[in-house]
Amino acid sequence: MKPSTTTSRGPVDAVTVLTWHALVERAEGLDAWPPEARLYVFTLDEFRCQLDHLAAEGFTAITMADLVRWQAGQAELPTKPILLSFDDGHRSNAALALPELRARGQKAIFFATAGRVGGHCRLPIADCRFQPGARSAQAWMGWGELRALLDAGMEVGSHTLTHRSPSTLSREALRHELAESKRVLEEGLGVAVDFAASPTGYDSRHFGPLAREVGYRAALQGVIGRNRRSAAPFALCRIVLKRSYGFDLFRQLVDPTSRAYRRLRLKQALRNGFRRVLGARAYEAIRRLVLRRGRE
Ligand SMILES: [Zn+2]
Repeated sequence: MKPSTTTSRGPVDAVTVLTWHALVERAEGLDAWPPEARLYVFTLDEFRCQLDHLAAEGFTAITMADLVRWQAGQAELPTKPILLSFDDGHRSNAALALPELRARGQKAIFFATAGRVGGHCRLPIADCRFQPGARSAQAWMGWGELRALLDAGMEVGSHTLTHRSPSTLSREALRHELAESKRVLEEGLGVAVDFAASPTGYDSRHFGPLAREVGYRAALQGVIGRNRRSAAPFALCRIVLKRSYGFDLFRQLVDPTSRAYRRLRLKQALRNGFRRVLGARAYEAIRRLVLRRGRE
């Protein structure tokens, strides 16, 4: 095994949470995704390299339950903990990511959009940038796949009911998204669904308090950062991985001694400020235009 390039600093002072979305078996598969979604899709080889790097560096994947217990002072964590997560509930999570995680003895939490489970939606699913074109009906994990994740020791959490951006919803509508997705997932899976992850990287001050109110134990939001023991359990930070970051930046982002994530956080804050000024709809329209132009 190659020597670790990061130094241990004694007891754990902060936990990095990484978030992936979908995987494709080969690079040609990326073409099936619209540009605004493709940003977040990794090839299987890229994902394997990332997991191998984490293993070589001595990271141990922990669960959300571990993180919450640590924050509450009820448990300690391994020397180099990391929390691996997936948003949206794309089928490739079970088909491609799960075997790789199992092969390395790693754990992850999968946040499913409850109204999409199985791809047969009778619910008004929001226009979603992570929806892969023509094959959308086949895109999302079904109950059997979610149960297979649980059977393999993974966690399943809620990514709301319809994936609408929390910052565009009224308090009541957001409460419904959180409560109803919890109910649907718990009924479908027969286990408690204790954790939620906010869809889209835009902050909503209501998401955390409402997640607590309807019975979750912790929530991941979209703000980039690491989580100290004292971090608010309903406003946990994470790093949503984009393919454009490349492997070098990935290595920096997971290095507990690196501050590489701060530059991304600043960019995110500027983007969010811009979005607030423009309004969500205008911002998304411009964003799509810029991304499509970039391809031409
Ligand atoms: Zn999402």
